[in-house]
Amino acid sequence: MKNFFFVITFFSFLASGCAQPNGSEGNPYYSRTDTTHLEVKDAEWKKILPKDVYYIAREQGTERRFTGEYWDHTGIGTYYCRVCGNALFRSEGKFASECGWPSFFEPIRATAVTYKEDLSHNMVRIEVECGRCDSHLGHIFDDGPAPTYKRFCMNSIVLEFEGD
Ligand code: FE
Repeated sequence: MKNFFFVITFFSFLASGCAQPNGSEGNPYYSRTDTTHLEVKDAEWKKILPKDVYYIAREQGTERRFTGEYWDHTGIGTYYCRVCGNALFRSEGKFASECGWPSFFEPIRATAVTYKEDLSHNMVRIEVECGRCDSHLGHIFDDGPAPTYKRFCMNSIVLEFEGD
């Protein structure tokens, strides 16, 4: 009987471990339910985030095209911010783009993301940031499909997909 309880405890431990989103590990700011805006300094994020995530999210980096996890991903579900857990996009808002980065024509809700003018690299672009943690996600362009004609060109590494 004792062994039976041990086995049950062991497997519920495994199941709860599997249910944890990747980005939440050692990250006290991560939440998929709390949408309160975060004020966290880059120095603090640097201690929490993996190096490659920090580079894109907090240093406005860009992953190499056709290298990310989601550019040709077609699963049905939700894409969350890998930094803070904020829900950003639905698979219904994603489209097959030839650009090599995951592309969406609309966010999951209007306040999920914010926009900022980006004048770096001698270009005028609109940067897309997470509405909760202000992390850099990518850029938005006017060559997307109907009905919005927008292309949210995102970096896979700052996204975290969970299927329905
Ligand atoms: Fe975020």
